Amino acid sequence: MTRLKDALDHIAAAVIKQRDLLNRLDSIGDSDHGTNMARGFAAAIDALDALEDLSTKKVFSVVGTAFSENIGGASGPLYATAFLRAAALCDENTAFNVKTVEKLLGAAIDGIKKRGHSDTGEKTMLDVLIPVYECFTPEKAGDKTLYKCIETAVKAAKEGLDYTKTIPATKGRASYIGERSIGHEDPGAMSSLIMVRELFNFLKY
Ligand code: ADP
Ligand code: MG
Ligand code: MG
Repeated sequence: MTRLKDALDHIAAAVIKQRDLLNRLDSIGDSDHGTNMARGFAAAIDALDALEDLSTKKVFSVVGTAFSENIGGASGPLYATAFLRAAALCDENTAFNVKTVEKLLGAAIDGIKKRGHSDTGEKTMLDVLIPVYECFTPEKAGDKTLYKCIETAVKAAKEGLDYTKTIPATKGRASYIGERSIGHEDPGAMSSLIMVRELFNFLKY
């Protein structure tokens, strides 16, 4: 699906543009989250450019592999697991709708939780990704279109990022400073927000 590759191109460019912001937010850790994400996405885009098979399964698995091979930090294997878990559920017939997104994102989050031994309320990317996921469940999505659900998800992502400001980190490097991380946004929550927001912006235009 060329549209998925185009969306990822757009998202990658946006994340790479925010490298400095993400590094700055990671002052509660080791100030490299922007560098890590930029490296991962640059590698992912190189790999996608070289690809002939643009099926959803292949695209997600190539991004996951690029993240796992090119990011040293915690976020690399975690986002890699997310993309690879989603890829594992795809086949040549995968089409995007609210139900598919619920399924793929659910599996992605499950992968992050298992790999990171983490859950909501620990000041991580999960504090954005889980509220985003909930926007695609039947209870919240109702009969909304996919586009509308993604619009709602951007709002949920922003609220999730705000929430990370109010709690101490209990996972990852920011947990070393514990309570002193309160008042700061989590960098991984911000990179997740950027991805969701830029997916919406890509679809909007
Ligand atoms: P590192 O901390 O190894 O330098 P990054 O700076 O790239 O890696 O990524 C840090 C981000 O990864 C955090 O802001 C947080 O959102 C996320 N993170 C770290 N550890 C975990 C975990 N165990 N579970 C979920 N997310 C985590
Ligand atoms: Mg870091
Ligand atoms: Mg690091």
